[in-house]
Amino acid sequence: MAHTVPGVISTHGIAVHDYGTHKMVSLHVEVEGSLPLTEAHDIADKVEDVINEDLYAVTTVHLDSYRDDPHS
Ligand SMILES: [Zn+2]
Repeated sequence: MAHTVPGVISTHGIAVHDYGTHKMVSLHVEVEGSLPLTEAHDIADKVEDVINEDLYAVTTVHLDSYRDDPHS
């Protein structure tokens, strides 16, 4: 679902914690490494909005640049 946001290359490291009344979601989002930080942050905000609406969750996105070494 995060892939529906333009600029998202891939996601990994998704964690969901269900607290009953709400969920907390965290994930890593890879964006093109040459993107200005402000654009990358806009993408992260959109990903958070999409997941928040889908899952009624509070979402935290960690940005990775695409050319970084992969990690989990
Ligand atoms: Zn990562």
